[in-house]
Amino acid sequence: MQHSEHNNGRVDTATIRSGTYTWAKQCKRSASNRLSELRTLRTREPDKFDPLEAERLHGQLDLLNALIVAHEPLQTEFAIDSWPLAEAFHYACRDDREQLVLLAGISIGHVRVATTCLPLACRERTATYAAADKRELAQSVQAIVSQGHFVVGLLHSHPGVGAEATVPSYEDLATHRTWDACCPLLSGIFSRDGYCRFFVDATKQPDVRLFGTGFKKIASGLFRYQHA
Ligand SMILES: [Zn+2]
Repeated sequence: MQHSEHNNGRVDTATIRSGTYTWAKQCKRSASNRLSELRTLRTREPDKFDPLEAERLHGQLDLLNALIVAHEPLQTEFAIDSWPLAEAFHYACRDDREQLVLLAGISIGHVRVATTCLPLACRERTATYAAADKRELAQSVQAIVSQGHFVVGLLHSHPGVGAEATVPSYEDLATHRTWDACCPLLSGIFSRDGYCRFFVDATKQPDVRLFGTGFKKIASGLFRYQHA
């Protein structure tokens, strides 16, 4: 799922940024390879070494390095509307078994904004485990993509209360990595008393921006629903 390259005939800034970055990286690789060839020549066949070419390549590399730094792709950031997040909590914690919920939304530049909650049917649910029904999941993703939207988040409930109940398991992290390989994804876990922890890997909690009321920010990527 990529940004549309053209929007009413206009190329978006993110596309220009990433195109320039990729181009500069390729040029840098060629220039660096040629420079190492020249260094070898200077040692082995000094009469074939061209100092002017080496100087020109050094100049190019300075310029390319500046371009690369200036156009490094921006990391995806996440923003969430508290309304669908509250819906997600009520659905995920509606009984004492784990449950999965998708958050769908739009992309504004490098920010993914979650605007909609989509409950997921599960093929198996226990107190400590929930597995999505693959067909239902594929249909939900298809419905999201066909509207020009994105899957922004995948949330589920855990048994237990308190912030410590929302720590992702090894399986949660593996699931996240599988999804994140296809598109930037925000994973999240609810505790029964309303804690909601977002994660993108084992150690990093993303700085999620939450809009609207009903949730209190506890720490970076950790919130508590006030009406649990
Ligand atoms: Zn889990």
